[in-house]
Amino acid sequence: MRKILLALLAAACVLITACGEAKPDKAERSFYAMNTFMSVTAYGSDSEKAVAEVQSRISELEGLWSVTDDGSEIYAINHGGLSEISEVSEVTRDIVAFALDIADRSSGALDPTIYPVLSAWGFTGDENRVPSESEIAELLKLVDHRAVKVTESGITLNDGMMLDLGAVAKGAASDEAARIMREHGIKYALINLGGNIMTVGGKPDGSGWRIGVKNPDGDGNIGVLTLTDCAAVTSGSYERYFISENGTVYGHIIDPASGYPVDNDLLSTTIISTDGGLCDALSTALFVMGSERAEEFWREHSAELSGFDMLLITKSGEVIITEGAAERFSLSDKSLTLKVIEK
Ligand code: AMP
Ligand code: MG
Repeated sequence: MRKILLALLAAACVLITACGEAKPDKAERSFYAMNTFMSVTAYGSDSEKAVAEVQSRISELEGLWSVTDDGSEIYAINHGGLSEISEVSEVTRDIVAFALDIADRSSGALDPTIYPVLSAWGFTGDENRVPSESEIAELLKLVDHRAVKVTESGITLNDGMMLDLGAVAKGAASDEAARIMREHGIKYALINLGGNIMTVGGKPDGSGWRIGVKNPDGDGNIGVLTLTDCAAVTSGSYERYFISENGTVYGHIIDPASGYPVDNDLLSTTIISTDGGLCDALSTALFVMGSERAEEFWREHSAELSGFDMLLITKSGEVIITEGAAERFSLSDKSLTLKVIEK
C-alpha cells in the first residue's frame, strides 16, 4: 500500500512539474514601422503586455528618428531646429553618439551624415536616379561624421549637413525591445525587425531560435544560424536597389569615400553579437569595407566590441565565417564554400 502511495505521489510530482513547465502564454504581433515589416513573438504570462509595449516603444523611437517625418528630432536637427537649443532627448543623443563612435572606429565606412548623397541617389523615397560626378563631389563636402557634435543636451551639425540613422535605428530598437521583454519577465522571445533579429533566451523547448541567412543572390536561405540571447543583423545591396537604363545595379548602401553605392566583393554581411545596435552598425560598415578590410576589422576590434562574430557572403561563392559564428551555423547551400577564420 505504502509503495502504491509513493508511486502515486511521484506521478503527481511529475505531473505538477510538467504543468509548471508547460508552454507559457504565447503572444505574437506584426506591424509596419521604420519602413519595414516587423514581427515579435514572446512566451510568458505577461507576453501580451510585453509585445504591445514593444510595438509602442518602436513607434515612439520612429517618431524621434525618422528622417522624413517633420515632427521627428532628427528632422528638426537636420533643419536647424534643435541644433542650438537644448531639446534633444537622451535616447537620440545616445544613438547619434554611438553611430559617431562606430563611424570613427570604421574610419568612416559607416557615416550617419551620408543623407545628402543618399538623397541624390533617390534612396529616401524619391525617384531613383544616377547623379552626375560633379553633383556627388559637391554633396560629399557635406558628409563628415567628425563635424557632428553631441553635447550634454543637444546635437550640432554644420550648415547643410544631415543625419540619417537608417543604418543603426532598427538594431537600437531591437535592444529596446529585448529590454522591455526582460522587464516583463519574458524568458523566450523572437524579435524580427525587418530582418534585424534579436532573441531573448531560446525557444521554450530549450533549443535555440533558428534564423535563416538569406540568399543574397536568389531565393530562400543559404543556411541557418541557431541563436540564444543574441542578435543577428544582415546588410546587403540586394535589400534595396535600382537598375539604371544601362543595366547597372545600384544598391542603397553608399561608400562615403566615393559617394557611390558599394561595389566590392561582398553580397552580404551578417553580424552576430549580444548587442543589436552594434550588429546593425557593423553590418553596414563591414559591407562598405569589403571582405579583406572586414576581416582585418574583426581581428582588431572584435574583442573591444562585444566579441562580435560575422558571416560574409562573397560574389565568388564563399561564406567567410568567424569561428564563433561557425559553431552556430549550418550551411545548406552546397554551391557555396565555407571558409572559417580564426583570430
Ligand atoms: P542597413 O540596412 O542597416 O545596412 O542600413 C542601410 C541604410 O543606411 C540605407 O538605407 C541608408 O539609409 C543608410 N546608409 C547607406 N549607406 C550608409 C553608410 N555608409 N553609413 C551610414 N548609413 C548609410
Ligand atoms: Mg545596419
